[in-house]
Amino acid sequence: MSQIKALVDIQDIDSQLMEIEELLGDLPRKVKELIQEEDTLITDLSTGKVRLKEIEVELHKADTLVKAHREQVDKHKDQLFLVSNNKQYDALMHEIDFLKKELDTLETQDLEFMEEKSTLEETVTTQEKSLGILTADLKERRGKLEILLKETAEEKANLEKAREGKAKAVPEKYLTEYIRVRNARRGVAVIHIQSNACGGCGAFVPPQTLAEVKGGQVLRTCDACNRFLYWKE
Ligand SMILES: [Zn+2]
Repeated sequence: MSQIKALVDIQDIDSQLMEIEELLGDLPRKVKELIQEEDTLITDLSTGKVRLKEIEVELHKADTLVKAHREQVDKHKDQLFLVSNNKQYDALMHEIDFLKKELDTLETQDLEFMEEKSTLEETVTTQEKSLGILTADLKERRGKLEILLKETAEEKANLEKAREGKAKAVPEKYLTEYIRVRNARRGVAVIHIQSNACGGCGAFVPPQTLAEVKGGQVLRTCDACNRFLYWKE
């Protein structure tokens, strides 16, 4: 097989492969993004739930301490009636003041925990809702993608196999050039001559080049757009 015939076939195969890629569109990228988002949400949710449990434990501890401190204060207040001298009285009052200050601190902490709990509960609820929506969306898109991939897998594999066969007929340096031009020229790197001009960009093809392209024995490219040229009867 001539090199130019092989390049024409490769171009045709690549165009079909491109159509398959276009059929999938941005679905593969979107699915990947959604999987990452889902992972992040699941991690955040689990962190939030762990923290909520910690807060519950802290709140329970604080409640127990508050209760104990209050009982202690009451007890000391009762003892105030039984004291026989000022020194004992002062000592008890001092102890009561200390306990009251501790109670203040505990109650402030308690409030802070309650606030954190309420904010976190809201966040967790929102995240759970988001996760539900996201998972449903992901499931749908993933399903679509799997169907499309399944439908196109055989065709794609056949095309790729055929491409490999054709590529053997073309020296590596031309294949590299072909890919470079294809990327630069919207997927078309091999084009036929139309009325003595490049079918890709319209540039004039000199008679010598035209004759060589018609002969089909050597590879010639358009001087203007670098596309490989071929002759179509
Ligand atoms: Zn051209």
